[in-house]
Amino acid sequence: MSFGPRSLAADDVLAGARPATRALGLYLHVPFCAYRCHYCAFNTAPLGDAAGTARFVAALRREIDGLGDLPWARDVMIATMFFGGGTPSTLAAGEIAAILDTVRARFTVAAAPEITVECNPESVDRARLEGYRAAGVSRISLGVQALDDAILATLGRRHGAREAADAFAACREAGVDNVSVDVMFGLPGLDLATWTRGVETILGWEPEHVSSYGLSLDPGSLWGATGIAGLPPEDTVVAQYRALAARAAAHGFEHYEISNHARPGRRSRHNLNYWRRGEYLAAGPGAAGFLGDLRYTNVKPLARYCALAEGGRLPVGEHEILTPRQALGERLILGLRTADGVPAAWLDERAAGEAALARRLDDWRARGLLLAAGDRARLSEEGFLLSDALFVELL
Ligand code: SF4
Repeated sequence: MSFGPRSLAADDVLAGARPATRALGLYLHVPFCAYRCHYCAFNTAPLGDAAGTARFVAALRREIDGLGDLPWARDVMIATMFFGGGTPSTLAAGEIAAILDTVRARFTVAAAPEITVECNPESVDRARLEGYRAAGVSRISLGVQALDDAILATLGRRHGAREAADAFAACREAGVDNVSVDVMFGLPGLDLATWTRGVETILGWEPEHVSSYGLSLDPGSLWGATGIAGLPPEDTVVAQYRALAARAAAHGFEHYEISNHARPGRRSRHNLNYWRRGEYLAAGPGAAGFLGDLRYTNVKPLARYCALAEGGRLPVGEHEILTPRQALGERLILGLRTADGVPAAWLDERAAGEAALARRLDDWRARGLLLAAGDRARLSEEGFLLSDALFVELL
């Protein structure tokens, strides 16, 4: 998704927001990475010294304080939190604890909130993970990506297969009972047999959740600029997607979202809120939030972010007020990413008066890509694969 700016930056835009629901998610962006992976287009910052990290943590806590001062802050409740990045596991347990303490001091937090921290295998050990748990973290998302050492090196990752397995084991030793593993397919040099072996190994670890993403050469990444040789052909990429879906299903996982598989009861609550177009606050450089009909993004450069937060300003960079038509398009696209789908009436409303779109939807139904399930509509596994083409038309 991308949302263009509608107006100049404004730090008071959140004060006028009107959250429609009480329970919100909170995304916390930790930008530091010890290195830049070759495919990465995320908002990252080089991991520097302890003083730089301390400055960021203090700025993030100032920003949370500022969010807590918003006129409607007492009326909402934080139900889930997600530390994403960047590499949040560059933060020590005490730093995560301090950030969470600030959230608890400034907001009502739900009982038993889902609190996820994204971790890179080489940056966690049992002691750090035990500290995260003691701070209230309930879920770890482990960035394994691949289990072939040569491919991991090509990606620019700093861990190997051994470190990935050790990090997963450390999660369990630390008592983390909700672990998600991130993997990537369509990687240079990755054939179907190697992929399938890696998938089986990871499923054999018995994680609660697996997220899989196809490699894309995004602008802003090294490979987006230079390209990369050795990419598998499209039919191999599709076979890799299908192989994961089949193996994960055989291991008892639900394919509950295009890119996500979970054991029953272990879906990501934070991400489900995104796909249901629920509301969420965001903090940290480049973090994006959604409240009422407002989508906003914080400024991205770390130094500017820190300076704004230190000056007592909310570091909002861009924002956009969505029209009802945009809102419906989003609701459809996000909902159709999930196995639960959307109310069929939403599709009818979107296609009303648009004969070409109505015909397109009929065609998808006839081909078994769009299924009826009671009064809901959802994509089939084949529909998931072809979803990009439909989503473009629904916006
Ligand atoms: S892919 Fe993840 S670990 Fe690699 S540079 Fe990007 S944010 Fe950091």
